[in-house]
Amino acid sequence: MRIRVLGCSGAIAKDCRTTSFLIDEDTLIDAGTGVGDLTLDEMRRIDRVFLTHSHLDHVAALPLMVDSVGTARGKPLQIHALPETIQALRAHIFNDLIWPDFSRIPSESDPFIQFREIAIGQSLPAGANRVEVLAATHTVAAAGFSVSADKGCWVFTGDTERNPALWARLNQLGVSMLVIETAFSNRESELARRSLHLSPQVLAQELENIDGDKSYPIYITHTKPAETELIMAEIKRFDQTQPGGRHIAHDIHWLRAGDILEI
Ligand SMILES: [Zn+2]
Ligand SMILES: [Zn+2]
Repeated sequence: MRIRVLGCSGAIAKDCRTTSFLIDEDTLIDAGTGVGDLTLDEMRRIDRVFLTHSHLDHVAALPLMVDSVGTARGKPLQIHALPETIQALRAHIFNDLIWPDFSRIPSESDPFIQFREIAIGQSLPAGANRVEVLAATHTVAAAGFSVSADKGCWVFTGDTERNPALWARLNQLGVSMLVIETAFSNRESELARRSLHLSPQVLAQELENIDGDKSYPIYITHTKPAETELIMAEIKRFDQTQPGGRHIAHDIHWLRAGDILEI
């Protein structure tokens, strides 16, 4: 399995694109502004999109991508999302006001997109891989995803705050790599708490939930561009001095757009 990081930033700026990952060539996880770096041909080959939630930084490029390649595809693009996410997309984006309702265009029987409801805990095929829908704790209905191939699974938390259900499941899975959000620095920890995102001090507490016999690389995503260096410095510091004096060094990296992860 090959994961191409199209965007992993918490906001836009030059060289900062919002969340989107291309799995192999045919599956997209979230459709933030990073999708705009794909060629027409690369977009045309995408058969399915899994959305973590309805927030704009995760769906912004979806309506535009459908418009770019809809006529060039022979079958509808499958959009897998929680029922609340689909409802939000139908009501607020594909509503014939903000953007055409491509679930009925060019015809109801042969549309450009089809919505597919998913549920937390569900596992479903995605090309050569399987996707499991993981719990998330956010201001709107949200999910994370575990994408598994033969050799292990790649896990993306989506946007989340403290998430005990996630760790309970991850400790059962053969995790090869974890991509976890840390949107804010510690000085913005109150904002992180209210917007249900992680800050470095809460991330450190969350990582204590990993079973002691498990170890895998951890990639930090969704940092605000203006705070990325501070966030990563705080994570490194917290990671070395855990609450209670424990000393656990995790294998932590900052994720960059353009990175290729392979499992
Ligand atoms: Zn969000
Ligand atoms: Zn987000």
